[in-house]
Amino acid sequence: MKLLVVEDETKTGDYLHQGLTEAGFLITLARNGLDGYHLAMTERFDIIILDVMLPDVDGWRILKSFREAGHQTPVLFLTARDSVDDRVKGLELGADDYLVKPFAFPELLARVRTLLRRGATSSATIELTIADLILDLPRRRATRSGKKIPLSQKEFALLELLVRRQSEVLPRTIIASEVWDMNFDSDTNVIDVAIRRLRAKVDDDFELKLIHTVRGMGYKLDVEDDDACT
Ligand code: CA
Repeated sequence: MKLLVVEDETKTGDYLHQGLTEAGFLITLARNGLDGYHLAMTERFDIIILDVMLPDVDGWRILKSFREAGHQTPVLFLTARDSVDDRVKGLELGADDYLVKPFAFPELLARVRTLLRRGATSSATIELTIADLILDLPRRRATRSGKKIPLSQKEFALLELLVRRQSEVLPRTIIASEVWDMNFDSDTNVIDVAIRRLRAKVDDDFELKLIHTVRGMGYKLDVEDDDACT
């Protein structure tokens, strides 16, 4: 298993290098963001451990570009900042897990192993399912109870996002940046219109509603409808 570690602090870098090597991994250590970015983009790794605070290119920018280039490699980011916002930001940018510094090595190792297991199964994922809704990812097709739902590219992308992050309330801004790759800070109406259209196709003909509005927060896809939803 090949791991890329991007870490500028000498002590932490050496510690990770030694510990992970002893645990049986093949480690490539990058001591700055640019080297890390270059390695991530040109070589294949099973996991990338990415420090956020780097002197040249920070971990968030690396992660963002890496994901935008379509790479699926699991990324665990290391952050000294223990604020909820920072963790949320990292996960939104496509990190798979995070660890707050200082961390205990056994915990890091446990998380790396979990990501490796998850990566092994998720790469084989070609279908996403919730209740009777099935998304066929390679064919970009959706069905409910076996009935085909005709969707545009954007509608499929929107539905895929909702299904991948099912049970999670997604704010309009997140939906805008994930599906449209744009910021709709003022004009979130676009999202509402798209959701309405999607809902008509996905939910109208079925008793079980999957797409829910969470007032003042956003949307979520779930089999359960609680009081906060309409
Ligand atoms: Ca650092």
